[in-house]
Amino acid sequence: ERRAAVEAAKGPGATSDGHKVPLLANVGGPADVPAAVEAGAEGVGLFRTEFLFLDDSERAPSLEKQAEAYRQVLEAFPEGRVVVRVLDAGADKPLDFLTPADEPNPALGVRGLRTLLDHPEVLRGQLRALARAAEGLPVYLEVMAPMVADRADARAFADACREAGLSAKFGAMVEIPSAALRARSVLQEVEFLSLGTNDLAQYTFAADRQVGVLARLQDPWQPALLDLVATAAEAAAAEGKSCGVCGEAASDPLLACVLTGLGVTSLSMGSSAIPFVRAQLSKHTLAQCERAASAARAAESGPEARAAAQAVLSGE
Ligand code: PEP
Ligand code: MG
Repeated sequence: ERRAAVEAAKGPGATSDGHKVPLLANVGGPADVPAAVEAGAEGVGLFRTEFLFLDDSERAPSLEKQAEAYRQVLEAFPEGRVVVRVLDAGADKPLDFLTPADEPNPALGVRGLRTLLDHPEVLRGQLRALARAAEGLPVYLEVMAPMVADRADARAFADACREAGLSAKFGAMVEIPSAALRARSVLQEVEFLSLGTNDLAQYTFAADRQVGVLARLQDPWQPALLDLVATAAEAAAAEGKSCGVCGEAASDPLLACVLTGLGVTSLSMGSSAIPFVRAQLSKHTLAQCERAASAARAAESGPEARAAAQAVLSGE
């Protein structure tokens, strides 16, 4: 009986009425996999590949070294999803050999996909390493680009994936308000969206994520951010495609319910948060999550949105 309880506590993410919301792990490499498995993650929703690039300040890791790291993560989830994000260098994650040193506003400069499009050989190497890693594995590989601003960015990324011969689903991270506002256009080029709410908050409120005194504006409960999440999720639903969240917002159990109510289709977070999000989600129906989401969007500030959602979800 105890074992059954433990198993149930590790089951797939779902609302109390059975609406499935896969709970995925954010990882930085193979070292993070055991914790993800232990937490019962249903896959990886964000593999931040930057960490692989930190060892050498002059060049990208070799194809072999990359492929080995990717393969170790892929092998850990033979039946799950593994979403690999291509290199997100720049701004809060500078890399000496790629990041321009003289930009006045690095967060608004050449970073993420912009860096990769300026250094196509780095993107090509990474995509080839991924293709090699996935060879012969029954895994469901998904690859996404950080900092996609518009449809042209999404197309450039999808083209690069096709040219590298990668057989995977291609996706775009939604971290820039323009991509959320025109999510339907972006989805003409890619098969899924993943909301990076850390950067989406930074760019929505023009508040540097590294400046602590601006914490109020980085609050993912802010109704303006919830509006953008809803816009992207509705666009994905209209296109019959998925729209997950992989920013810190997904690790807040109450906010996870609200995101579900907004139409988000999967939640990816640091592994330690997974049991708490799973438990909270399992207490409410999808309709209750939708009501909490409406109440939060009707609020005038982050704290009020949280209180409103809490009132809806605990008043039942
Ligand atoms: C995000 O911006 O929300 C995100 C998931 O990416 P990172 O935190 O690595 O920038
Ligand atoms: Mg980001």
